[in-house]
Amino acid sequence: MVRVNENYLKIQSSYLFTEIAHRVKAYQEKNPSAKIIRLGIGDVTEPLPPAVVEAMHKAVDDEAKRETFRGYGPEQGYDFLREAIARTDFQARGVDVAADEIFVSDGAKCDCGNIQELFGMDVKIAVPDPVYPVYVDTNVMAGRTGANEDGRYAGLTYLEGNAANGFVPSPSGLKADVVYLCFPNNPTGAVATKAQLQEWVDWARAEKALLLFDAAYEAFIRTPGIPHSIYECSGARDCAIEFRSYSKTAGFTGVRCGYTVVPKGLMAYSADGKPVELRPFWTRRQTTKFNGCSYVTQRGAEAVHSPEGQAQTKATIDFYLENAKIMKDALIKFGYSVIGGTDSPYLWVNVKGDSWEFFDRLLCEANVVTTPGAGFGRNGQGYIRISAFNSRANVEEAVGRLAKVLA
Ligand code: PLP
Repeated sequence: MVRVNENYLKIQSSYLFTEIAHRVKAYQEKNPSAKIIRLGIGDVTEPLPPAVVEAMHKAVDDEAKRETFRGYGPEQGYDFLREAIARTDFQARGVDVAADEIFVSDGAKCDCGNIQELFGMDVKIAVPDPVYPVYVDTNVMAGRTGANEDGRYAGLTYLEGNAANGFVPSPSGLKADVVYLCFPNNPTGAVATKAQLQEWVDWARAEKALLLFDAAYEAFIRTPGIPHSIYECSGARDCAIEFRSYSKTAGFTGVRCGYTVVPKGLMAYSADGKPVELRPFWTRRQTTKFNGCSYVTQRGAEAVHSPEGQAQTKATIDFYLENAKIMKDALIKFGYSVIGGTDSPYLWVNVKGDSWEFFDRLLCEANVVTTPGAGFGRNGQGYIRISAFNSRANVEEAVGRLAKVLA
């Protein structure tokens, strides 16, 4: 008799997006002429930058000729891409990361989810609340938690994000071995200052803990002084792994590419307290279970790092950030307090009431779909997430409708 992995039975069904779809469908059926605008989307809307498209076309031609054909590539990624990443994403900013510390993958979701395989079953895990659910669910699947009670899993430590700390929890007094951090944050759009991240790094070094730093939205940072990488903090190479993604940076949500940085000399500990280097573990994990991101995709990603690619991706992100600014300015004018939307595509709006009631109000009265914050954890109650991934016409139309309902 085949037994299932019982840990899967503990996982809460992904109620959030199912419930949104259900409510939107029910409304649309009753009001077939309503033109619904979706401000809840976490997917990009702009196409790939021309430099990427050109590079990918050329790479397809490489695959079409015997002399330039590439089959299986290195599991960690081609050197041409790892070197481009090290140079433009880190060394150009004065950050010490080398090409052989970069592991190219098919996106940050897999890496954020798979990384927990490297750690013992009894490590104490801390996650933010509100949270990107992948950090939580992958640890539940692995068996590191107990049952879910009132929306929280026994055995996990939740880092409380709230209005008082601006959704940037501090490590003060925390006892944990592995901590997931995400800045600029999904869903709150909050960013951490250098001093706040340095506090986390100092804490992790003192506790022999590890930070898993998700920088999927790094490219949206515009405020000078806000760190783009955890490795801008001194000592972070000794206590942090960083995840990056081309998804929101360059429109790769459908193409799929990301990477993880595991510095040389980064240690965890064996049961007898001996230090063990993590980079060979991740190399082993990837070479065993992952067969590399496609050559065509990696040539496209390489083009993101070219001068043309950098200018084109910046222009697209500027466009999304302008969308965010239009919506943020309007909501503030209507009397709402908003976090994010400045160095992030997400606006986190305090709705002064219940998340789902506000969601229903905007759906029915403005035909605008948002994402109820309550779906991202207990501390998301009372907030909605609005995303800037949209056309300018939709953003302007939505703001006009919100003005009639909220102003
Ligand atoms: N990390 C965060 C915080 C995200 O919001 C997302 C995507 O929405 C990802 C990682 C996944 O990115 P990718 O498309 O590279 O898998």
